[in-house]
Amino acid sequence: MHTDCLILGGGAAGLAACARLAQTGAHVALIERLDRVGKKIMASGNGRCNLSNAVMNPAYYGKAAPFVARVYEKTPPCEVLSFFSSLGLMTAQEEGRIYPRTMMAASVLDVLRMGCDRENVALLTGQEVVSLTPSRRSIWCAQLSGGEGVFAPAVLCAMGGSAAPHLGTDGAGTRLLHALGHSVTPLQPALVQLRCDHGALRSLKGVRAQTRLTLEIDGRAAAQETGELLFADYGVSGVCVFQLSGFAADALAKKRRVTLFVHLLPELAESAVPAWLDARIAAQPVASAQSLLTGVFPRLLTLAVLKEAGISPDAQAGRLSAASRAALAGAITAFPLPVTGTQGFKNAQVTRGGVALGEVDPDTMASRRFDGLYLAGEVLDVDGPCGGYNLHFAFASGLTAAKGMCAQLRA
Ligand SMILES: Cc1cc2nc3c(=O)[nH]c(=O)nc-3n(C[C@H](O)[C@H](O)[C@H](O)COP(=O)(O)OP(=O)(O)OC[C@H]3O[C@@H](n4cnc5c(N)ncnc54)[C@H](O)[C@@H]3O)c2cc1C
Repeated sequence: MHTDCLILGGGAAGLAACARLAQTGAHVALIERLDRVGKKIMASGNGRCNLSNAVMNPAYYGKAAPFVARVYEKTPPCEVLSFFSSLGLMTAQEEGRIYPRTMMAASVLDVLRMGCDRENVALLTGQEVVSLTPSRRSIWCAQLSGGEGVFAPAVLCAMGGSAAPHLGTDGAGTRLLHALGHSVTPLQPALVQLRCDHGALRSLKGVRAQTRLTLEIDGRAAAQETGELLFADYGVSGVCVFQLSGFAADALAKKRRVTLFVHLLPELAESAVPAWLDARIAAQPVASAQSLLTGVFPRLLTLAVLKEAGISPDAQAGRLSAASRAALAGAITAFPLPVTGTQGFKNAQVTRGGVALGEVDPDTMASRRFDGLYLAGEVLDVDGPCGGYNLHFAFASGLTAAKGMCAQLRA
C-alpha cells in the first residue's frame, strides 16, 4: 500500500494529525494495533476527557518547557480549541480544566473520528507496526505484523509511551525509534500511585484526607503539592500524589532516598500546630488523646497519628509531656511515608522520558536525524501534570506535525 502520509498510532496525537491532514485532501493511512482507535482517549479524565486547560503554561512541563513553548508558539492553545470547535466539539470549563461540554470522552473521540471519515483517509485498525525503515530514497516503509508493508514519503510516529499498556501502549514507539537510531531518555512511570513502607497503611486503606505533601529526596524538600490523599494498603494515591510521582520515580531509579511527609492539617501552618494542640488540650484536659483529635481526623487516622507519636489513645490529654506534645504535632504536620516505588506503568497515566527533544524540530515535529519522519505525543520526552496538559501536548504536537508533513508534500 502506498500513501502520501502515514500515521503510526491512532491515539490523541495520531488522530488529531489525521483529521487535520484529511482536510488538506492528502492521502492518509493511519495504523492502529487495537481493534479501535482512541481507546486511551475514552479512558481519560475518568471517562470525561480533560483535553486541555485554560492556563497552558509551558513551564508546567519541567525541563521540556523550552521545547513545548516552541510547539505552542507554532500551534497555540487557542488553535487546538478552534480545531476541535471546527470538528463540532463544544467544550466546558471546570476550575480551568477543559472538557467536552457533554462531560463524555466519547464526544472527543467521535468528532476526531468524524474528522477522519473522508475518502482520502484509511484507518487500519487491528494492525500492528513492527518496524519502520527508509526503503528507497525518501520513502518510508512500515512493516505490519501480518507481513504487509505500507509506504509513504512522510510518516508520523505517534505510538505513545509505555504507560497503560492495556490501552495499546507498551513502549513499542520508543523501541522502534531507538532501533532506527534516535536516542531515548530513561522511561519512568509518572502520574501514578506511590508505594510506601509504613505499618499504618494497612489500617488506613480507604481513608481520605486533605493534605499538603512534601516530597523529600535524600533529606531535601524537592516538591510540594496540596490536595486530597487516598490511603491504600500499598501506599498512597490521589491527584496530589500523581503530581509528585514523576520526581519520586526519577529519584528512586537513581537509588536516592525518597520520603513523603504528609501535613494532615494543611489549613494550619506547621508552626501554628503546637499552639493549636495546646489550646485544644487546655479546653479538654481530662479527655483521652483519641478524643482530643476526634472531629479533626477520621478515627483510623487519629489512631495512626497517635501511634506515630508513641501516644496511647487512652492517655489523658492534660498529662501529655512536652515531648509527647511535640511528637504529636510532628506526626500531624509531617507524617513520614518512606517511598519504595510506584505502581508501575500498568497504573501510570503517562511516561516520563522518551525520544530526546534535541533530535526533533519543535516547529514541524520533524526528526532532525531522518528526513520525512515526524514524532508527536507521548513518544517524546515530554510529560505534564494532571489537568489536561498531556492530552493538550499530544493534540498540539499532532497538529504541528500535520503542518510539517503538509509543507513537505508541497515542497
Ligand atoms: C487512564 C488515563 C487517564 C488519562 N487522563 C488524562 C486526562 O484527563 N487529561 C490528559 O491531559 N491526559 C490524560 N492521560 C494521558 C493522555 O491520555 C496521554 O498522554 C495521551 O493520550 C498521549 O497521546 P499519544 O497520542 O501520544 O498516545 P496514545 O493516546 O497513547 O496513542 C498511541 C496509540 O498508538 C497505538 N500503538 C502503539 N503501538 C503500536 C504499534 N506497534 N502498532 C500500531 N499502533 C500502535 C496504541 O494502541 C495507541 O492507540 C490519561 C492517561 C490514562 C492512561
